[in-house]
Amino acid sequence: MNHPTAPLHAALAAADQDQIIYDLAGIAGNLDTLRRELPGADVRFAVKACPVDAVVACLAERGAGADAAGPREIAQALRSGVPVERIHYGNTVKSDEDIAAAYRLGVRDFATDSLADVAALAAHAPGARVFCRLATDGEGALWGLSGKFGCSAADAVRVLAAARAAGLTPSGLSFHVGSQQMTAGAWRRALDLAAGTLAALRRRGISLAHVNLGGGLPALGYADRHGRPLDPPVDKIFAVLREGMAQLGEAAGRPLDFLVEPGRYLVADHGAIRAHVVRLTDREHPDGTRRHWLYLSVGKFNGLYEMDQVQYRLVFPGHRGAARVPAVVAGPTCDSDDAFTTAGGPVQVPGTLASGDPVWVLSSGAYAISYLTRGFNGFRPLPHTWIHGPARPAPARREAPGG
Ligand SMILES: *Cc1c(COP(=O)(O)O)cnc(C)c1O
Repeated sequence: MNHPTAPLHAALAAADQDQIIYDLAGIAGNLDTLRRELPGADVRFAVKACPVDAVVACLAERGAGADAAGPREIAQALRSGVPVERIHYGNTVKSDEDIAAAYRLGVRDFATDSLADVAALAAHAPGARVFCRLATDGEGALWGLSGKFGCSAADAVRVLAAARAAGLTPSGLSFHVGSQQMTAGAWRRALDLAAGTLAALRRRGISLAHVNLGGGLPALGYADRHGRPLDPPVDKIFAVLREGMAQLGEAAGRPLDFLVEPGRYLVADHGAIRAHVVRLTDREHPDGTRRHWLYLSVGKFNGLYEMDQVQYRLVFPGHRGAARVPAVVAGPTCDSDDAFTTAGGPVQVPGTLASGDPVWVLSSGAYAISYLTRGFNGFRPLPHTWIHGPARPAPARREAPGG
């Protein structure tokens, strides 16, 4: 897979100020790929991964729906052109007020995982369709999402039976295997759990029409500790999902409609940050070791919130062939957590980097805008922009990652 695409590469090269650039054609291409890989699954974009109107609108134009976490994301999806019947309230955590607001906006599909939430839905969203979220172990994912969301299979039966008794429509099951899930086995386990739950529900006379396969599909362009692409087994993951879709239909004893609600997968690889070098230094630490530190203009608080878990691929235009030094990469703020220290060790960077030199942070399109602070430490929230349309000519010289 080629990152970044030629138009994104050209836009990065043309940018002379820090910004995050989204390639809408690339994002639309990922939607096409997903639909090819999972025929018959309806796609709902998890808005929180990239709450940018142009991105939501680009996906909506192509028929994608939205997975929203609350009334403000619902309103954003609506103004970006997502029809209300394709908007799903996917957050199991919601107040009475939020449920009522979503219902007033016309949303009728709600995720749930508890009797308390079902009672609130019955009161504030009468007649709504409910999806019960099953808990997963989150193993194999960079962010497990376990614990806070989802219930056991036995509880799902109780929750959906209560929903039915309260006049709601038990509509489906959902799960989320954890974000940037790197193993096909995690989906295998979740699909088996869903199949068992569907069978148990059937014995209770509850026949569901939908299964929501959740998010968690991985970005392809993150790096490993050596700066090489992480290469998650996406082909295997899609194969397991296709197999599971067939298996679940049998367990349900009826044809099922499938939904998938990716966030990261659609946007991560088609957003990139143009940042700059603040300073490359080397210092002796109290233990006597000397280390290089590369301070960038972006970090945890202005675009790279996920830097604790993700090692991004960095491109240093104009330094190809320069001798490399291992450096700890860090953001510009006065916070020691604002550094790539957990996900990766030191990164090989050109020893010739000078203050002001451009740096491109690849595959940084997911969870960047949504996690910007309001300018922590006085560093400006990263502006965003997007490109679309026919590919502009690629620059004559292409930089290899890290090159
Ligand atoms: C965040 C979230 C998603 C998207 O997760 P990704 O790992 O970005 O694909 C999907 N569904 C729900 C309910 C979420 O909370």
